[in-house]
Amino acid sequence: MRRKKAKPHIEVKCDYCGSMTDRFVVNMEHKKFCRHQYVGFPPEKDCMGDYIEEKKNVQEKEKSKKSEKEEQEKKVLTDRKTAIRKLDELKQFLSKKKQAFFQKRPT
Ligand SMILES: [Zn+2]
Repeated sequence: MRRKKAKPHIEVKCDYCGSMTDRFVVNMEHKKFCRHQYVGFPPEKDCMGDYIEEKKNVQEKEKSKKSEKEEQEKKVLTDRKTAIRKLDELKQFLSKKKQAFFQKRPT
């Protein structure tokens, strides 16, 4: 007599949408996601895909936020440099003017 092997029914909680599912995938971080897909069809539900997409968006948002901040800091630095350079130019201009003024005078 052949015994029919019962397939263990495992249900896990999706780490993305929080629903219980027996069709799931596990990612590298050991997170479980629903994945309802029939072979040859696009997935009906693909929480890992959504999770990855969301994570990517968050990272990109943070990245753009960071670069925006760096850009602002760079601009402030440039402004300061420009201000210092302009001040130097002004000083040079004034000292040259002074020199010219003194040189013109007969000694
Ligand atoms: Zn899910």
